[in-house]
Formats: sequence, C-alpha cells, structure tokens
Amino acid sequence: MHDMPAGDSRLRPRVQCPYGELFIYYFQGCLKDAPTAMDALIGNWEEDGCSFLFFSRPCPEQVEKILAAQPQLSLLDTFQIPYEQWQGDTCRPFRCGRFLITPPWEAPPPAGAPDATVIPIVLDPGLVFGSGTHPTTRDCLAALDLACAAGGPETALDLGTGTGLLAIAAARLGCRRTLAVDINFLAVSTARRNIAYNGLNERVLAVRGRAEQFMEPPADLLLANLHMDVLDTLIAAPAFGRQKKFILSGLLRSQAKQVQTRLLQDGHRILQTWSKEGTWFTFYGQTGGTA
Ligand code: SAH
Repeated sequence: MHDMPAGDSRLRPRVQCPYGELFIYYFQGCLKDAPTAMDALIGNWEEDGCSFLFFSRPCPEQVEKILAAQPQLSLLDTFQIPYEQWQGDTCRPFRCGRFLITPPWEAPPPAGAPDATVIPIVLDPGLVFGSGTHPTTRDCLAALDLACAAGGPETALDLGTGTGLLAIAAARLGCRRTLAVDINFLAVSTARRNIAYNGLNERVLAVRGRAEQFMEPPADLLLANLHMDVLDTLIAAPAFGRQKKFILSGLLRSQAKQVQTRLLQDGHRILQTWSKEGTWFTFYGQTGGTA
C-alpha cells in the first residue's frame, strides 16, 4: 500500500535543520510581493491584515528595504523566540500510533524498521500547525488509521491541512487522491514541501482556499481538524451529507456536545469518539446519505 518508501534517503534532498532562534518582525499590513529568495527568511505568516516575517537571524537591513519598497506596511514590533517555543515542541522523530514521523534533516529509519507495520512520514512542520504532537492531530491519525482499515477510502479531503500531515497519512494508508486545503499561504507551501518529501505529488494536491468552498466533489473521507465556527459551517452545508465518512476534530467539550447533537439530528452516525483528557474531542462517523 505504501508505494513510496519515505524512509528511502535517495528520494530526499539533503536538508539541514533550519530552526534555532526565530527572529520575528511583526507588521501592520500584508506584503504585496512575498520575499522568496531572501537570505535567512523562513516564512511569512499572514493573519487578520497583519504579517509576521520569520528569519533565522536578525535582519534589520532587509526589513528596512521591505518597508521602503512597500509603504502599506508599518513595523509594529520585533520578537526573538526559540523555535521550540513557537512550535511547542522539539523537532525530533517520534511515533504516533503506527506512524513514525521524522524531520527531513534526521536520518531516515531503515526500510521496515522498527517493524514492517510502521508507516514512515517525513515532515518539516516549519512554522505552521500540524507537527503531529497536538492531541487533536494524534487522535485524527488514530481515526484515520481506523477509517482506512475499514474498506479503505479512495479519495479524501483534508480541510485545514496545516503541514499536510493528515493528507500525507491518508495517502500512505492507501487513498489514491487527496485534496489538502488551507486558507494560509504559508501552510500551503509547507504542505507542498512535505508532500514532495514523501514522494506523493501524484496523489496529494495542496491548494489555498476556504474549507467551506471545497466540499465538492464529495470525497470518501472528509478530514477537518479546525476551529468550531468553520466546522459549524461545514456540517451545516448540504455538501457535508454527500461525503461518505468524516473525521472532525479541534472540538472542546461543550463544542463537541453541540456538534454531536447536530450530526445526529441530521441523520449522521458517529462510529467512534476520541477525547484527550476530556478536553479535545474527535469524531469519526458516517454521513446519513451513505448509511
Ligand atoms: N490538519 C492539521 C492542521 C490543523 S490546524 C492537523 O490536524 O494537525 C488548522 C488549520 O486550518 C490551520 O493551518 C489554519 O490555517 C487552517 N484554517 C483555518 N480556517 C480555515 C478555513 N476557513 N479554511 C481553510 N483552512 C483554514
């Protein structure tokens, strides 16, 4: 089923861990031209009309140049934090269920190690959400493993893909075509890089867009680890009922209750629920249309 051996180092460009201290420049306004070939630039995170440029060393001259060329921007603040503090974790290989998640600058596990049931995934989380350590992502991976064991979906939709991890895992578990969607530019470029690291360009496509606009054509499996207001809109849309199965996560306890009530009212079935420490909830289910 795993047609691309992610552990095969011949597939991988040589990469060094680019993350130590992060030097962050926080602007009011959005960059017109995203600086691409800028030395030491790690990425540009845009949110609510603001931009955060991340560098691997202090870059005041480069920032001056950007400000001079793009008058719509004003510098609000600068920060320096360790990468682990931004990601909430260190970037080391780790196991999550059957998945062995390894950053591209670490030695790949030898083929079939530690045992043949392990599924290797190469992942550089960069600056975006979805390193695989958050309880919601972990439960989504467990749900995905279950969903793919039962009959195996051919197509999947990963709405709010972040690093692309769930889409990559779906492909590794046998999905032939997966569409990964994120509203954030940096997430899409990070997901694309990770899809390539895993040799999955033919099977996983990452695009920028709003989750709400990507439920057609329907998929065998919809994955959405997103905040409540987006999930609410997704569930309420008629297109939700045309998906076959779903994995929904990112829900806190009271939100989970609301979503559960709505799903059952609409004739969908919840096949299994995961709840980490009673805080984060994940639902795996089947839509009414296909029950
Ligand atoms: N799927 C990953 C990341 C989840 S974080 C995982 O399970 O770990 C949620 C992601 O959804 C973020 O990358 C965020 O940019 C994206 N997002 C938030 N609102 C969105 C929307 N309306 N449409 C598409 N993506 C959205």
